[in-house]
Amino acid sequence: MIFAMDEIYQVSDLTAGTLGSLTPPARLAVFGDPVAHSKSPVFHNAALKAAGLDAQYVKILVRPDELPAALRALPQAGFLGTNVTIPHKAGALATVDEADDYARRSGAVNTVVVENDRLLGFNTDGPGLLRAIREEFSVDLRDLRVLLLGAGGGAGRAIAVQCAMEGCERLVLVNRTVDKARQLTAELAPFFRSDRLVGPVERLQAIAHEENALRDQLAHTDIVINATSVGMKRSDPPLLSAGLLTANLMVYDTVYAAGKSRLLEDAEAAGARTANGLSMLLHQGALSFEIWFNRPAPLEVMRAALRGQ
Ligand code: NAP
Repeated sequence: MIFAMDEIYQVSDLTAGTLGSLTPPARLAVFGDPVAHSKSPVFHNAALKAAGLDAQYVKILVRPDELPAALRALPQAGFLGTNVTIPHKAGALATVDEADDYARRSGAVNTVVVENDRLLGFNTDGPGLLRAIREEFSVDLRDLRVLLLGAGGGAGRAIAVQCAMEGCERLVLVNRTVDKARQLTAELAPFFRSDRLVGPVERLQAIAHEENALRDQLAHTDIVINATSVGMKRSDPPLLSAGLLTANLMVYDTVYAAGKSRLLEDAEAAGARTANGLSMLLHQGALSFEIWFNRPAPLEVMRAALRGQ
């Protein structure tokens, strides 16, 4: 069999061991359901080629009930590891033999490494966002007052944990279902216990996704991060009223599917600095590469491959 980047493989291909007979042999994958939309093979295959590694990265459609078996099949199939995406990140954490501190706190694994038949779990979403913010805005998360939309979702939780572990100046967790954000503030409170003051507001707060509450908090915010799924379709309703957005803000939208989302268009019109989630996608992928191969990822090759999409 030859190299075919758009091919979608099944778990049966993995368990039967046939993916090792591809040219180059499949040694890495992304597991998802759906998985067709994933851009990961594009930049990972470019990276593998640039690094001179005789391996390819494939897409495997893994249904939720197949995840444990698919992960357990990796060592036998000769795989170095895998990425997991929607809806498998929590399931991967439950299946791996060991996970690092950040993955455990995030409740999610997106990168699995096969090591002597054991499965090790990591999560590169938060560290990927950290690098993306630094690259896009030349600032560090730890110096920012962050307002995080969608804090109760999978990506939102991972970002919130990263912000907390970085010790960001301030973190406001916003979620449509506010109880999820409240629960998360309880978990993250130990990271914010200090004498550091940022003025008349608390360093860690949970609020509902409501206009008045958002307006009050945006007055004490440097960066708005969207981790909701709103904006994935051009027809989605606005996530924030345009009138809430001001020129002093940075706005990072983890969504990248629609190119420039309505949120980013409105933020730009208000004079804010903006960036979409492609940089987070790139950096979480580069970090996975570094975990698998213990060497720097060919970032510019990966970026060019992603841009060429
Ligand atoms: P998820 O677990 O399903 O979470 C969805 C979040 O969006 C929840 O917080 C949900 O609030 C909120 N939400 C949904 N509809 C809403 C609405 N109409 N108004 C306000 N909030 C709403 O999804 P996920 O896996 O975290 O993914 C979220 C987004 O992150 C996706 O768009 C994905 O593309 C992006 N992402 C990007 C990267 C990257 O590398 N750039 C990586 C990971 C994820 P409730 O809790 O109230 O339901």
